[in-house]
Amino acid sequence: MQTTETAARKAIQEKWEKRPLVISGPCSAETEEQLVTTAQQLAETGKVDVLRAGIWKPRTKPGMFEGIGAKGLPWLQKASHLTGLPTTVEVATGKQVQDALTFEVDMLWIGARTTVNPFSVQEVADALRGVDVPVLIKNPINPDLELWGGAVERVARASISRIGLIHRGFSSYGNTEFRNAPMWHLAIEMKRRYPDMLMVNDPSHICGRRDILMDVAQKAIDLDFDGLMIESHMDPDTAWSDAKQQVTPARLSEMLESIKWRREDVASESFHIALDKLREQINHVDDELLDLLAQRMRIAEKIGEYKRNNDVTILQTNRWNQILEKSFVKADKLGLSRDFVTRYLDAVHMESINRQNRIMNG
Ligand code: PEP
Ligand code: MN
Repeated sequence: MQTTETAARKAIQEKWEKRPLVISGPCSAETEEQLVTTAQQLAETGKVDVLRAGIWKPRTKPGMFEGIGAKGLPWLQKASHLTGLPTTVEVATGKQVQDALTFEVDMLWIGARTTVNPFSVQEVADALRGVDVPVLIKNPINPDLELWGGAVERVARASISRIGLIHRGFSSYGNTEFRNAPMWHLAIEMKRRYPDMLMVNDPSHICGRRDILMDVAQKAIDLDFDGLMIESHMDPDTAWSDAKQQVTPARLSEMLESIKWRREDVASESFHIALDKLREQINHVDDELLDLLAQRMRIAEKIGEYKRNNDVTILQTNRWNQILEKSFVKADKLGLSRDFVTRYLDAVHMESINRQNRIMNG
């Protein structure tokens, strides 16, 4: 027992440090056969580092498959023994943490529906006190970095030293392309706040469908994510949960094969010199852009004074429409997307309105 425990601990430590880290397995453990066979097929690819399986499933609506429960843990243990793959499951309560650890689960993750709730995260963190297990924390359902960071702090305060993050996208009303909008900038900001933390991307829950998994996975690797968590099932169409987004182990293997694993850094000196030059140019342009924006705001303030003195409203819709239309024509010519230009102009406009408001209302 002592020796297997030490061996397992060593195995997960090695995996923890491996880049890229690939986690895969079914959304849910369904039957012993399904879990063991899927695990064996994944192990045969030679490309998977950690086996995942949902044992307890927080579902949006009652009546959906809510997970097989603790009886699936021995299946997972068996799959691990047969394949040599370390395992990970989602935990949402203190009891689930204990059950998972009793069955030697090597790594735990906190799901998006749990990260949103500080009571639940605290309960999980309390159960983790004194335990040496890596924990991955998925982003909360809503785009709130403070909440995500709060969960990290709660787990860190329980003295868990190996904490990682999983970016699984954010719920947004009316979004059609993705099941959960990636909002990449939020993951990037989280990487900036926690530079030493493992950052894994979960294309499955971002996409919600198979056909765009590859694009999202590649984008994550291009953005220097440390790994991927992708759901895989021996027979995806018959899966009891998330059937549309799961892929067979063979397809997973193809996907991982075709991803271009770019490195953040390369040693070549000429590459660095060229990059430094381009970065210097970007710095100059950014500098000029900021000067111009400041200049634009000063003009807006002058207009504010003028409007105040003549009792005119801040927002004049016609004028704003003119600006948009003129900018779109120019943007099209310059090859800037309308989406980008709209977001940029909205931000500039908001700032102008705030400044004018300050001037007009003291
Ligand atoms: C899952 O990984 O199967 C899951 C439920 O994910 P999320 O918490 O991201 O919805
Ligand atoms: Mn799932």
